[in-house]
Amino acid sequence: MPTFQLADLLRPHILTLTPYSSARDEYTGKEGVFLDANENPYGPALQGSSTFSSSFNRYPDPYQAAIKEKLAPIKGVRPTQIFLGNGSDEPIDLLVRATCRPGTDSILIVPPTYGMYEVSAAVNDVSLIRVPLTPDFQLDTRTVLDAIEPTTKIIWLCSPNNPSGNQLDSEAIRAVIEGAVHSLVVVDEAYIDFASDPSWTAQLDRYPNLVVLQTFSKAWGLAALRLGMCFASEELIRVLNKIKPPYNISAPTQELALKALDHVERKDEMVQQILTERTALAEHLQGMQMVQQVYPSDANFLLVRFDNPKEVFNYLIEHQVIVRDRSKVQLCAGCLRISVGTPTENSILLSWLQQFQDSGRWTVDAGLITH
Ligand SMILES: *Cc1c(COP(=O)(O)O)cnc(C)c1O
Repeated sequence: MPTFQLADLLRPHILTLTPYSSARDEYTGKEGVFLDANENPYGPALQGSSTFSSSFNRYPDPYQAAIKEKLAPIKGVRPTQIFLGNGSDEPIDLLVRATCRPGTDSILIVPPTYGMYEVSAAVNDVSLIRVPLTPDFQLDTRTVLDAIEPTTKIIWLCSPNNPSGNQLDSEAIRAVIEGAVHSLVVVDEAYIDFASDPSWTAQLDRYPNLVVLQTFSKAWGLAALRLGMCFASEELIRVLNKIKPPYNISAPTQELALKALDHVERKDEMVQQILTERTALAEHLQGMQMVQQVYPSDANFLLVRFDNPKEVFNYLIEHQVIVRDRSKVQLCAGCLRISVGTPTENSILLSWLQQFQDSGRWTVDAGLITH
């Protein structure tokens, strides 16, 4: 059984790179006369009182120690297994840059899936291997493992998957992690709070090639903060810390994230409301004549297959209800992706859908009459 060696996966120059050393790296004390970072000693150019306690004239903690201390027990990991990024987009890009040689290496994705893996590969001139999910959006494990090339550095799995909403079968994920011994296997768990299976973070100590991504953008309701979490081996986290921009998480973001972590129960309460609404919305949609299928969801959205997706989409737009058209995406023909809203938002959505169905612009037998 070959063993995973991170050093074999990293681009050689990343191994030997000397990182930028910030003023906050060289002196980590909190008290003193700080004349080391060319900051403005008087304070921020702001007027009036602030709801923040940070001194905005000072650079923020480059390693976000306070957040990691609070987050680690919540996630059941050690602080040293956590990297925080400017959204999940930052660790996605850093993982590609740390491992993939432009023009030479590849990543593997399982479409339909989240678009950023492909974009990050394109930006970095890294080639893409696509192994589609099965029609019920599950992993074709054998084909995934067979498609891996010696230059394939990362396999991206998204579970619960965007846009399909389902979790990937955990034994299939395990087979990929165990079979892809010379690649990183990233499990993007942006929607894990809405899911029934547990997080893969519990398996980090067992699998050195496993990376788990989560985010504050969905269940925590903090999309505007731009804060993504990456959990991995301490060895890989050290590499990400070495190549990240020094002050990648702003002081307001750090401060607000710390406050949110004191209110896990508020997050859990909102998740429960969304799950209740998800069930109700799915039932209503499934009962509509023009809906062919509501796919099972472990996320905060539903993938819904319509007879007439384009017309439904446009009609909703006309009435200022905006959903995501996924009908051009592989395996998603006819599908719109609908985020679960508040009870009011969901009933607005449903009543416009009902109006459209009742409008006579639509009949079951004839399909769409007017375009
Ligand atoms: C929304 C989403 C994210 C979150 O991205 P952020 O940059 O953290 O806002 C990550 N992965 C998937 C699959 C998503 O749908």
